[in-house]
Amino acid sequence: MMVLVLNCGSSSLKYQLLNMETEQMLATGLVQRIGMEDAGFEYKVPGGKEIKEVTSILDHTAGIKKTLAALTHPEYGVVKSMDEIAAVGHRVVHGGEAFTSSVLITDEVKSTLRALFDLAPLHNPPNLTGILAAEAALPGKPQVGVFDTAFHQTMPRTSFLYALPYAMYKRHKVRRYGFHGTSHRYVSERLAANLGKSLDGLKVITCHMGNGSSVAAILNGKSFDTSMGFTPLEGLIMGTRSGDVDPGALFYIMQREELTVQELNSMLNKHAGMKGISGISSDARQIEEEMEKGEARAKETFDMMEYRLRKYIGAYAAAMNGVDAIIFTGGIGENSNLLRGAVCRNLSYLGVELDEEINNTRSKKERTISTPSSKVQIWVIPTNEELVIARDTVAVVNGGSR
Ligand code: AMP
Repeated sequence: MMVLVLNCGSSSLKYQLLNMETEQMLATGLVQRIGMEDAGFEYKVPGGKEIKEVTSILDHTAGIKKTLAALTHPEYGVVKSMDEIAAVGHRVVHGGEAFTSSVLITDEVKSTLRALFDLAPLHNPPNLTGILAAEAALPGKPQVGVFDTAFHQTMPRTSFLYALPYAMYKRHKVRRYGFHGTSHRYVSERLAANLGKSLDGLKVITCHMGNGSSVAAILNGKSFDTSMGFTPLEGLIMGTRSGDVDPGALFYIMQREELTVQELNSMLNKHAGMKGISGISSDARQIEEEMEKGEARAKETFDMMEYRLRKYIGAYAAAMNGVDAIIFTGGIGENSNLLRGAVCRNLSYLGVELDEEINNTRSKKERTISTPSSKVQIWVIPTNEELVIARDTVAVVNGGSR
């Protein structure tokens, strides 16, 4: 069964085609600057053909049609015809309280998604645009929605309620939702598979560290708490997002700088985080490079990011009354031995013992980087959100649920 996985933004579309018999990724790519005459189209077959083209792609449907033409191309395509594609899986950012698992897209689901636009105004409208475009480009094929928030719907009320007037929750559904759910779920399930046991009885902390970052406390395989909140702005220091800030400081800044709500929003989401503190870059690798050259602000940025993560790990170990395993994933979590090393060396109070040599060895594989005697196992597990979406799509299309 071939599954096309789509992740649609307002002017972009990322795709992967997966053969779900083998769980192999057959082709991947992205369309950028949708709506423009000079849109970018990229297509890549692992170990094979790579295309980069600048062309006019005026809407998401045109982007999907262009993708399908490449996938079925007689010379460099990976399937003979569109008929071979059995279903489409969509990454949907916000499922609110309505979606606790992945679902088959129906008219009712689409209207619920519309009702959720206010909760994720930047993400959900393009996600729905992508669904409608895929329906137009691949008529009759089942479409499945996989939500970033769904995995975290198991959080207890003590974790997800904010101490605001209760009416704010009742009236406006303001609460912690959490994001990166497919990633936290995937890496925790991979841990269980590696250990050869169930997640029942296990206390796991998953650290998804990328351009956007979040930590989750996973108790008995269920999300118990997570650092992102009502929006993906709360929690850790990210590439351009501030993470936690005293709300009082924001009122003060708004007054002093005479900022509108939109301007403050833009400051917190696009000009803060590593970029804002360092004044150098939002990119962790670049921050590390500058730090190693002796750049003081870069070092401070790295230290702040590491410290915030370590505080959350400590908080979640306390929240679950212990921790059996800590997992690092995402671009930074998978690749930065410096970050993992700095965090783990400061967790000796939990009985964490890092194997420095393994931590410093580059690898793309799932691996444990703690010593055999470490009380808490430390793992690096590359995430694969597309695979989760494709697996859920197969499960939902076959009548199951995820
Ligand atoms: P993601 O959003 O998961 O793709 O992660 C992107 C982040 O991973 C960026 O901040 C990159 O700089 C960071 N990253 C990728 N490779 C490395 C590396 N070798 N060392 C440190 N950070 C890295």
